[in-house]
Amino acid sequence: MSDVETATENEIRDFIREIVRTDLNSGKTSSLVTRFPPEPNGYLHIGHAKSICLNFGLAQEFGGRCHLRFDDTNPEKEELEYIDAIKTDVSWLGFDWGEHLYYASDYFEQLYDWAVHLIKEGKAYICDLDAEQMREYRGTLTKPGTNSPHRDRSVEENLDLFGRMRAGEFKEGERVLRAKIDMASGNMNMRDPVMYRILHADHPRTGDAWHIYPNYDFAHGQSDAIETITHSICTLEFEDHRPLYEWFVENLPVPAEPRQFEFARLNLTYTVLSKRKLIQLVEEGHVNGWDDPRMPTISGYRRRGFPAAALRDFSRRIGVSKSNSTVEVANLEACVREDLNKTAERRMAVLKPLKVTIINYPEGQSEELEAVNNPEDEGAGKRMVPFSRELYIEQDDFMEDAPKKFFRLSQGREVRLRYAYFVTCNEVIKNDAGEVIELLCTYDPETKGGNSPDGRKVKGTLHWVSGEHAASAEVRLYNHLFTKENPGSDGDFLDDINPDSVEVLNNCLLEPSLAQIPVGKTVQFERLGYFCHDIDSSTDKLIYNRTVALRDTWAKVKAKG
Ligand code: ATP
Ligand code: MG
Repeated sequence: MSDVETATENEIRDFIREIVRTDLNSGKTSSLVTRFPPEPNGYLHIGHAKSICLNFGLAQEFGGRCHLRFDDTNPEKEELEYIDAIKTDVSWLGFDWGEHLYYASDYFEQLYDWAVHLIKEGKAYICDLDAEQMREYRGTLTKPGTNSPHRDRSVEENLDLFGRMRAGEFKEGERVLRAKIDMASGNMNMRDPVMYRILHADHPRTGDAWHIYPNYDFAHGQSDAIETITHSICTLEFEDHRPLYEWFVENLPVPAEPRQFEFARLNLTYTVLSKRKLIQLVEEGHVNGWDDPRMPTISGYRRRGFPAAALRDFSRRIGVSKSNSTVEVANLEACVREDLNKTAERRMAVLKPLKVTIINYPEGQSEELEAVNNPEDEGAGKRMVPFSRELYIEQDDFMEDAPKKFFRLSQGREVRLRYAYFVTCNEVIKNDAGEVIELLCTYDPETKGGNSPDGRKVKGTLHWVSGEHAASAEVRLYNHLFTKENPGSDGDFLDDINPDSVEVLNNCLLEPSLAQIPVGKTVQFERLGYFCHDIDSSTDKLIYNRTVALRDTWAKVKAKG
């Protein structure tokens, strides 16, 4: 596992930035142009965030520009919903493509013309082999392929067939257009790769205008060239496609000569980042949609309460390299905690309430006490919190016959209620089952604000809420969606789904100001963690999601084994 490496704030150094710097200095590139090219066949995930931060980040750092281009060449799997979601996510991450929003489908006519150009040059042909035969003719890594019997068709026949493919005269799978390169090449991608296949599917943008669609390898590089992309950055799986990328650029009258560079994709522990698997989780109902807070999608993390700045910071810290590795998901959570510690306002909330009655506090009386919103940020100001005779504290903050080291409440012991008073527990009330259901306490009016008047010390400070003023809420505690570091490593990844990935608490009590926090905003519940006001919240029912706990509790669980 690789650890997060630290890079200095203003200068990031990695092999891609070295290449860009060299190209700009030597004049090979006059102005940097990058692109982020998602296929709209799913929602974006944290791996895409790495690519977005790299491509848009480079453009920002080197005074260039970055395009958002939808790689929409696969109409059967693509949907407008995904296009909209992707735009939302890229913007939310803090990047702006300005006027440079493109679609590979904008170039279908140009790509068709270039395919015709290759046919006329004798560098592409129509092949009638079916998928099975194609595989046989292709050879293997150790055995060269065999030329297709259709490889030497005349230019006229090829042009005629290609035109009829476009017109929709043939069935799917009946014919393809292939580049004529080298069936004996050591690189399988160069063994007469398919450029166009027949698909009678409706396309989200071009409707039924086309019956043939370009393959990724033919569409991608040529789209880069049309947009005068200088550095086309993709993940390592495409390394073996680079010779083909270059072959098309060399053999076509394209307006620019983009170059492809590859970097290692992001892998995260306890997480799957394959779109196919994420789609399966959504479609089979293992999660509640793409933005389920347990999903590693940008929309899931947003709903969970992760700040965009934390995702950018994470992308910066993991860096860019040439070798595949897996990053600990705890590193992502650490970035989230670090950001929220600086920015999130503090509030008090009791997740598992235990009633406390302050017997020497007058019945029917209440008062407002001043509380600091964020000790890390003076500008966040203060707020008032109501205090009264009936309070609630966390069940875990009381223990009968507590050991000396238990610095919370126990019979006969005194603690501080945050921002309020010192209180002492005098009596414990139990139900018939012997469970503690209420504590009778006294408070010291001289300790208002939680300050000791006589130098008297208390070991513990507890959070609390006032019963009559509290807002009741549902709070959802999230854990990793998978129980294994590498889900699916020894079988079906679905078998590794964590049955306890969410715990729903129904009787939580929140300080009243938490009902006013805007949906989508993340706050710290003091002593508990960071929590985000969920979109499912209504006036009848408040809902908060736990973003992260204050500390990495998972690491502790793991250590205990
Ligand atoms: P698929 O092509 O199987 O649908 P994909 O994850 O490659 O899935 P794309 O929409 O093609 O999805 O990806 C858009 C861009 O994001 C590509 O440039 C791709 O290389 C990059 N990308 C995808 N996954 C990761 C990852 N885990 N880490 C870094 N970059 C990624
Ligand atoms: Mg892809």
